[in-house]
Amino acid sequence: MSCDIDGQDGKIPVPEDVQDAIRTLIRWSGDNPDREGLVDTPARVARAWKEYCQGYDEDPSHHLSRVFEEVGGYDEIVLLKDIPFQSHCEHHMAPIIGKAAIAYLPNDHVVGISKLARVLHGYARRLQIQERLTAEVAECIWKHLEPRGVAVVIEASHACMTARGVRTPGVNMVTSRVMGLFRSDSKSREEVLKLMGY
Ligand SMILES: [Zn+2]
Repeated sequence: MSCDIDGQDGKIPVPEDVQDAIRTLIRWSGDNPDREGLVDTPARVARAWKEYCQGYDEDPSHHLSRVFEEVGGYDEIVLLKDIPFQSHCEHHMAPIIGKAAIAYLPNDHVVGISKLARVLHGYARRLQIQERLTAEVAECIWKHLEPRGVAVVIEASHACMTARGVRTPGVNMVTSRVMGLFRSDSKSREEVLKLMGY
């Protein structure tokens, strides 16, 4: 059980062993976890990680369960672009910060546009690699919305590369996953990538 007083004002309690683990990490980093400024840090860090990893508590496909069939004959590309997101790399647990473009070619029904962003966040709020995040978002839309095509392009910077290791700020990684008509038809692919700005 936690003896953390924050638990009494609506914040989730943090088990002692979780706080101990963060104290160990602070010590390993070279600081003293018992000094005043760091006393509440373990509980804060633990709660922050619960938030960063909220995606584990949801099934992102759930956001695609409500569709609209009255689309007035619209059968062209639906695109949501410049969707900001934050994730964490599974190799260093360091931030991945970027933006995504998600497009699909509807097959007689569409979803509320914000749902595409929700699917992205559902997978981003986990420990990830950018390649898998891109594939998971595309495959979720492909499987649950059954469109004629899906394209997902993600551009992100990885703190494990910009803040440590080779320390190269300003470098972005771009990943894409195209399915259906966007994969088989080069004209459709060109059109969607152009709309996305690539
Ligand atoms: Zn990393």
